[in-house]
Amino acid sequence: MNQHPCQVVITDCDHGSIEEEKEEFARIGAELVLAQVREEDEVIRACKDAHGLLNQYALLTRRVLEHLPKCKVVARYGVGVDPVDLKAATDLGIIVANVPDYCIDEVSEHAIALILSLMRKTAFFNAKVKSGQWDFHLGMPIHRIRGKTLGLIGSGKIGLEVAKKLSSFGARAIAFDPYLKTSPQGIELKGLDEVLNESDFISIHCPLNDSTRHLIGEKEFKKMEKKPLLINTSRGPIIDEKALIQALEEGRIAGAGLDVLEKEPPDSVNPMLTMENVILSPHVGFYSEESISELKRRTANNVSVVLTGRWPGSVVNHEVKGKTRASISHD
Ligand code: NAD
Repeated sequence: MNQHPCQVVITDCDHGSIEEEKEEFARIGAELVLAQVREEDEVIRACKDAHGLLNQYALLTRRVLEHLPKCKVVARYGVGVDPVDLKAATDLGIIVANVPDYCIDEVSEHAIALILSLMRKTAFFNAKVKSGQWDFHLGMPIHRIRGKTLGLIGSGKIGLEVAKKLSSFGARAIAFDPYLKTSPQGIELKGLDEVLNESDFISIHCPLNDSTRHLIGEKEFKKMEKKPLLINTSRGPIIDEKALIQALEEGRIAGAGLDVLEKEPPDSVNPMLTMENVILSPHVGFYSEESISELKRRTANNVSVVLTGRWPGSVVNHEVKGKTRASISHD
């Protein structure tokens, strides 16, 4: 006999420990099951009695959701909710929640790390010294950050944090963000061409969608008057990589720091792998021990609050309000 009034199932996850989740559900007396299933029928079998789901990659299609009669809430680990059929969830009265801001510090620190490393040429000098070349002239010229201009493409949560952190080095910030009506504090909003034209470092922080795919291409590189550094910690396809490689080969930009690429991992023949003024990292911007722990805790909390009668902090399918299966005490 099941002693728990509620059952919560983790469909799948790729983190090793689920201690944070266990703590959260022990607190409300719910049973927690780690299923590690991805195939449709397996997901249905594992989740048929669940009142709430935590989900990473398993596709929660309309068919799957229709077979989960008790499910009130699906919480996705992370920002994107692409594995979940949102329309179906809404039709069925299932709340879908996410965690949109668990790694603002990490991604902004990563962008700053790339800027600092390219400006001070630390990765370049590291390679030289280890190959026996002890000569700072090899890295000339180097410029100071104070007085330089940071250009943001996208000035949301992460972009703002990058501007704030870099301002302590004496840089000023300008931004292109067509969805902002007023300039955030410490940032001057400008058109895209002005940002391309005036910036010493350009850092990309807009989402990838149809209007931002290849937003930075051949035409845009030609507008980069100051031979800036280009930093991308957002999504690879926002930059046309062919045009980027050409711009690097022609010296139109001083260098690039990329946490994300059009193809991840890159092909072994990608010319950027051997360019000394390009720093690459394996889409790691989101990660720290703290951010992952926070992600797990907050994803679990998104489920437990619904099961105890409250709305989660971040609901993705707002249209579900008014027709949710959950009994929410204050709407
Ligand atoms: P956010 O939603 O807070 O900010 C995005 C900003 O981009 C918004 O202000 C929006 O108005 C703006 N924007 C939208 N379309 C634009 C366009 N066409 N041109 C310019 N600006 C536009 O998001 P965030 O939390 O700051 O995250 C930014 C991006 O960082 C995410 O979309 C994601 O792709 C990326 N990200 C990467 C990692 C990583 O591990 N490298 C981790 C988390 C997030």
